[in-house]
Amino acid sequence: MSRVYNFSPGPAALPLKVLERVREDIPDWNSSGMSIMEVSHRSKTFMDLAEKAEQDVRDLLSISNDYSVLFLQGGATLQFAMTPLNLSQSGDVVDYVQTGSWSKKAISEAARFCTVNIVADSSDSNFCHIPLQAEWRKTTNAAYFHYTANETIAGVEFHFIPETAEVPLVADMSSTIFSRPIDVNRFGVIYAGAQKNIGPAGVTLVIVRNDLLDRKRADTPTLLTYKVFADSGSMANTPPIFSWYVTALVLEELKAQGGVVAMAKINESKAMKLYQAIDDSNLYNNPVQPDYRSWMNVPFVLRDANLNTKFLAESESAGLFNLKGHRLVGGMRASIYNAMPEEGVDALIYFMQEFEKLNG
Ligand code: PMP
Repeated sequence: MSRVYNFSPGPAALPLKVLERVREDIPDWNSSGMSIMEVSHRSKTFMDLAEKAEQDVRDLLSISNDYSVLFLQGGATLQFAMTPLNLSQSGDVVDYVQTGSWSKKAISEAARFCTVNIVADSSDSNFCHIPLQAEWRKTTNAAYFHYTANETIAGVEFHFIPETAEVPLVADMSSTIFSRPIDVNRFGVIYAGAQKNIGPAGVTLVIVRNDLLDRKRADTPTLLTYKVFADSGSMANTPPIFSWYVTALVLEELKAQGGVVAMAKINESKAMKLYQAIDDSNLYNNPVQPDYRSWMNVPFVLRDANLNTKFLAESESAGLFNLKGHRLVGGMRASIYNAMPEEGVDALIYFMQEFEKLNG
């Protein structure tokens, strides 16, 4: 078997141990005589798995009983609608920070349901920085305040939690959750699509403070209502059993590796050495202001764009896959989530340096 280093932004690499366990489990999961895809979500074995996965999320992020942990569907994109539908009434003002493509999308969806106030916008720097908090134009009585903790496309990350006083803080953590410890108590809602640091696509993790569960609009559809899932153990309808099961294995593996504290150490080291290699070179450039550079997604352009095709072809031959950057930014992007081992980043740096020697 030959596994490549997969730098995809999502669906992203999963831990090999998890994949091997899935292979082993498939024909006869948990001595049920069935695969996980064939068991009832109401069976005791699956309910036990669901309960354990929830407990693992709680343990990993030290989540108190003031919060519900939900396993939903629809991806992070559906949360762009679910947040306004569950936390605001039509006519309410909601605050958003616009720091990249994903927050922009969240804003246009929220604008269908309420009045969006953009407190700050970094489009003037091509989303290469985060405007200073002191300059944000916040609404005192906003129904909530939303930000995208890590912008996956431009590689911009909040290395701080915004101050919002009494206004509930909502965060899209799709591409940063479980990469480091976070103080969940500072948040009203945290959501994340699974397919980067959590598991396969199909599951969306939502952590919601219980006192917010009653804020929904009267006409919010049943399956878009947080409370319905909170009251049913995320089983308001048939859940995405397979993705949930793989997610449970990833969480277990994450705990075994020392949890988010251990991850943060490795992730910071991986990111810093890659940025250093980029900054030290004459061929590669990352335009993001250093204070806001993402630990998870590292975009870089080659000074001569004519070399892009060659870089991609040769990096693949070296076993380094999915480095093509997003079309909005161009160049390359290395997504280095939890499942990317430090050796993968070392191999990328070595390749980049050799490529520069020959082509720089
Ligand atoms: N938010 C962020 C920060 C993302 O990176 C993505 C997907 N790359 C999304 C939202 C959309 O997620 P999904 O495809 O799960 O709807």
